[in-house]
Amino acid sequence: MNNIEFDKQHIWHPYTSAVNPLPCYEVTGANGAELTLSTGEVLVDGMSSWWAAIHGYNHPMLNKAAHDQVDAFSHVMFGGITHQPAVDVCRTLLQMVPAGLERVFLADSGSVSVEVAIKMAIQYWACQGRPEKSRIVAPRNGYHGDTFAAMSVCDPVNGMHSLFESVLSKQFFAPAPQTRYGQTFSEDDILVLEELFEKNHHQMAALILEPIVQGAGGMRMYHPEYLKRCRQLCDTYDVLLICDEIATGFGRTGKLFACEHAGITPDIMCLGKALTGGYLTMAATICTEDVALGVCQGSPGVFMHGPTYMGNPLACAVANASLSIINENHWQQQIPAIEKQLQSELAKCADLPSVADVRVLGATGVVEAVQPVNVAKIQRHFVKHGVWIRPFGKLVYIMPPYIISSEQLSRLTHAIYDYFK
Ligand code: PMP
Repeated sequence: MNNIEFDKQHIWHPYTSAVNPLPCYEVTGANGAELTLSTGEVLVDGMSSWWAAIHGYNHPMLNKAAHDQVDAFSHVMFGGITHQPAVDVCRTLLQMVPAGLERVFLADSGSVSVEVAIKMAIQYWACQGRPEKSRIVAPRNGYHGDTFAAMSVCDPVNGMHSLFESVLSKQFFAPAPQTRYGQTFSEDDILVLEELFEKNHHQMAALILEPIVQGAGGMRMYHPEYLKRCRQLCDTYDVLLICDEIATGFGRTGKLFACEHAGITPDIMCLGKALTGGYLTMAATICTEDVALGVCQGSPGVFMHGPTYMGNPLACAVANASLSIINENHWQQQIPAIEKQLQSELAKCADLPSVADVRVLGATGVVEAVQPVNVAKIQRHFVKHGVWIRPFGKLVYIMPPYIISSEQLSRLTHAIYDYFK
């Protein structure tokens, strides 16, 4: 049995049937902004391996950081032990995130960092003698991961809440923000959320949202004023604000963190994906001093969460290399250049009858089809055209590595146009 055949028979892949899966392509190499398939084709990568590989693949600095750390030590438990790679990554992160965020919890994936954020928020209020503040509020069309607490705050339809109704925590949902980034803010956007806060704040521990770009729940880009208002509502009604920057963090939207579009600081921020430049799984939940003090005051006085691979030195070492590349600030030129090119080259898709909408923000471009796309068929088209793009539902979207050349980016945009034309 060759690899593809064995895989089809025995291996689960994300978001597809185990017994009748969508086709899979075998990658044998990855370099810069390109993936090489076992069939010999070289594809321009439009996905950054789900927002993560922002510096491109096989990066010499990231490789060196990983090699050096393997030669030192790859892992030690974080209970009762610390080490230079973890201290460095936390110190650097605290210099980068909005002022006021002070305490870092190193988690092992984005979903886990969201679990940690939700647990922190609930424990915070319990420790203030307000255990009834235990529910989370979220806008629709959000996505925060696939574990249970994360799933409970994902869009109820995309997140298949009805399937898990008996086990998912019941959270509050508000309509997704409608005013797009760059439009004039409509007050209607915030009205339902305001009412929800007014009526239910005594039960609410936190509001969780993806700042400015709602990713896997719809690839929607919304007005910063909505985020500002959310911060104000949280302040007025004593509700913590959790910003999930797992997809948007580290420059993708044109700001280092998407919160900066609205000039706000959350009480808790989740980071992941690009943190290690797409090399290893690691995430971080970062909170204010007030949240940390609140969680740890009184009884039980501790936060009961401690993954085996918490603070994994190898992941921290690669993250340190990734953060130092980010802090060279080339992204400040790369992202606007990608944005400009995406805007000009994807614009013509908007005129096609099978396209419902085109939107671009920072280094993310979205072409929304009128009908859901046939993933197997469109993927064959893309591979034939030398690009790697993985759509879902009606959404054909790209968020390429920041180091992509303009010729490579054109291959991506032309392949999309060619499919819809
Ligand atoms: N939050 C957001 C905004 C995400 O985009 C994702 C991943 N797509 C997650 C959380 C979950 O991260 P992970 O897949 O690393 O668990």
